[in-house]
Amino acid sequence: MIIAASEKVPLEKCPALVLNADFRPLSYYPLSLWCWQDAVKSVFLEKVSIVSSYRRKIRSPSFEMSLPSVIALKSFIKPSEHPSFTRFNVFLRDKFTCQYCGDKKDLTFDHLLPKSKGGVTDWENVVTACSTCNVKKGGRLYQTSGMHLYKKPFRPTVDDLHQNGRNFPPNFLHESWMDYLYWDVELLP
Ligand SMILES: [Zn+2]
Repeated sequence: MIIAASEKVPLEKCPALVLNADFRPLSYYPLSLWCWQDAVKSVFLEKVSIVSSYRRKIRSPSFEMSLPSVIALKSFIKPSEHPSFTRFNVFLRDKFTCQYCGDKKDLTFDHLLPKSKGGVTDWENVVTACSTCNVKKGGRLYQTSGMHLYKKPFRPTVDDLHQNGRNFPPNFLHESWMDYLYWDVELLP
């Protein structure tokens, strides 16, 4: 039975989506998720309200509780305007597309100014590239490589990534999170 299976799901597979006090995710990129221990602790400390729960329960002789799947902070925290510089977020900014040839397979990263020539790993110097283009460019500078970018790399805002994120939702989203993550998808032209 499906219900029995979902009740036996490992505890570590039950993170809680954390919403700000306005019921929007505390962070999108990365998505604000707390492990079940932190979620339960914050419920007992009365720092969050439970919005939705898993079927998965935790039990002790004197106590039983369904693990929270969505929790909301009781006090509002000002969200950060810029997402973290992560591999996933660079791919997402570039729509999982090689910025030189448009390929979507075998993606890696290219430093416009190569690391060997003092290039840094940051939003403005790193682009998504397929392995073929990455090898083709090799250790050359972008300016002298004869290769052309679709788009110059930039530091995105959360809104920029959010626009792209609609097309590339992570594949581990729990059904109870959907209302809080993609509720406005249909409103876009
Ligand atoms: Zn390419």
